[in-house]
Amino acid sequence: MHSECMKYLVLLIALLFIYPAVDSKDVVVTLPPLAEFVRAVGGSSVNVTILLPPGASPHTYEPTPGQLSKASDADMLVVVGSGIETEMQLLKAFKNSKALVNASEGIDLIGNDPHTWLSLRNAAIMVDNICKAFVEIDPQNRTRYEQNRDSYKKELASLDAELSEELSGVKQILVFHGAWEYFCRDYGIEQLTIKEGGKEPTPARIEEVIEIAKREGIKIVFTEPQEDIRYAELIAREIGGKVVVIDPLAEEYIENMRNVAEVIKG
Ligand SMILES: [Zn+2]
Repeated sequence: MHSECMKYLVLLIALLFIYPAVDSKDVVVTLPPLAEFVRAVGGSSVNVTILLPPGASPHTYEPTPGQLSKASDADMLVVVGSGIETEMQLLKAFKNSKALVNASEGIDLIGNDPHTWLSLRNAAIMVDNICKAFVEIDPQNRTRYEQNRDSYKKELASLDAELSEELSGVKQILVFHGAWEYFCRDYGIEQLTIKEGGKEPTPARIEEVIEIAKREGIKIVFTEPQEDIRYAELIAREIGGKVVVIDPLAEEYIENMRNVAEVIKG
């Protein structure tokens, strides 16, 4: 063998000893933002599968039989666990599984509002829970997971501090579907909701909202890609305002939260 090649071979073998192989983990998550949390903690050695298809509502989505069997084969199944996946029969199917991670464990719910992940402070707790689960299934890589957790939590905290400043002048927002209560709580904003109790708004409710918005000088109606935009458009027309779409389910969590704050700030 050529001596140059030999050198590389020796180097390669040495590297194998320095960095023991990490076998890749298959992790299934219900909602897209959980994928960023799992990748942030698990690093490049995780394969993440998201159950909720783009455009589907987590309030009503039922996983397919194929997805359920994929979830049962996974090393870890991460759910928001706040009540948003109650429609998903996988929660019943995996209730006793050791691999099931309830990411919202330890988060104080506001009433029974399930949209826990839309607070950067709650996200930090979710990342803690996910890290604990990784350490449990793969204790020899504890340090790596904990370092990953800490650096992601640092990003969350720095964005949180940024938003506290940025949003300090915002008093209230008008949203079609009330997904942003935890976000609003963090920054002292009042969330006005058009669709109450998960039901389509009645004509009386729409009229009432138009009146409130006119009185309060609200000019933006926030809605989501998963919702029927026509109600928001109707209200925006009546108040001489505009519709802005914000996504509670984007997979690029931190980037999305920054963008949402940007449009809320106006
Ligand atoms: Zn929702």
